[in-house]
Amino acid sequence: MSRYLLPSLASLAPYVPGEQPQDRRYIKLNTNESPFPPSPKAQAKAAEALKRLQLYPDPDGMSLVSAMAERLGLSPDQVLLCNGSDEILDQAFMAFCDGTHPAVFPDISYGFYKVFAEFHGVPYREIPLRADFSICPEDYFGAEGMIVIANPNAPTGLALKSSEIEEILMHNPKRVVVIDEAYIDFGGASAVPLIVQYDNLLVTQTFSKSRSMAGARLGMGFACKALIDDLKKVKYSTNPYNVNAMTLAAGLGAWEDEAYTRANVKAIRENREETEKALRDLGFETTDSRTNFLFARHPGIGGEALYQALKAKGVLVRHFSAPRINDSIRVTVGSKEEMEAFVRAVREVLEAQ
Ligand code: PMP
Repeated sequence: MSRYLLPSLASLAPYVPGEQPQDRRYIKLNTNESPFPPSPKAQAKAAEALKRLQLYPDPDGMSLVSAMAERLGLSPDQVLLCNGSDEILDQAFMAFCDGTHPAVFPDISYGFYKVFAEFHGVPYREIPLRADFSICPEDYFGAEGMIVIANPNAPTGLALKSSEIEEILMHNPKRVVVIDEAYIDFGGASAVPLIVQYDNLLVTQTFSKSRSMAGARLGMGFACKALIDDLKKVKYSTNPYNVNAMTLAAGLGAWEDEAYTRANVKAIRENREETEKALRDLGFETTDSRTNFLFARHPGIGGEALYQALKAKGVLVRHFSAPRINDSIRVTVGSKEEMEAFVRAVREVLEAQ
């Protein structure tokens, strides 16, 4: 740290991304990436865009925005693209929260919410999940600030019903409610249809998971025009060209190749069910995951020990040392072969106990 860093940042604990190790080849099941490459159409369009990189990208990404709006029954001014959904979440904290406008989110959820709040000097309250890791909607009624909920939640994998999201919206007419749908394509019910009724709803989604584009950094937000205009004010005051031309082109190719996305999502859901069954047969407890990862714990081995033992065998999963979840691991659902290798490694670890 230099002597110039602001005191307010000196004590900030930044978000810690999942490991991207370079030391050896791992079966990488730790950052919820897709095991499949991006759609060939996305790749072809990105390659074309590469030839025009001397030009700035369209700051509004209108071709992609229009295509999205059309499929979702929205108007283009209800859609905003961003550099990964992390960015639009950050923009929401900038637009709707400050020292006197707090935020609330679950105590066990995506770790970035807390980092955004701390970075922007926003007071926040973490609302405990129930003992079974589910979110209790009533806990969010009449909240004191912007609500941020990942649905399905991470790392628990559990989803709220649309009716439960709607109750939260109804009970917070004066608050922005952000529903982070990074994993929605793997099983949850999207809140996007509620946008027409609720002017306090912002739904965020990403191309990083079901569309195999984590490396391209493309996310999007859906909300009424007024909320999108608020976020645009932040975007055009910070980084108007936040989504690069290759990513925009690849995004359009991926969006148009919906059949490819659906086939991959189907394969991942099947692998998820098979892996979950295998883990349960080995004595694991698992949550009812609606995502591309499993959240599991075994009565015979701690989360940290299991993570380390699997890493030594070349299988990388995620372990969180936070209270209540430090006996669990989060495992990304990869290809059939990867999941078979994962289950084999787990069996060996348990047998060696
Ligand atoms: N929300 C949740 C719940 C996530 O797990 C992630 C991925 N780490 C994100 C948002 C951000 O994803 P991206 O920036 O790649 O769109």
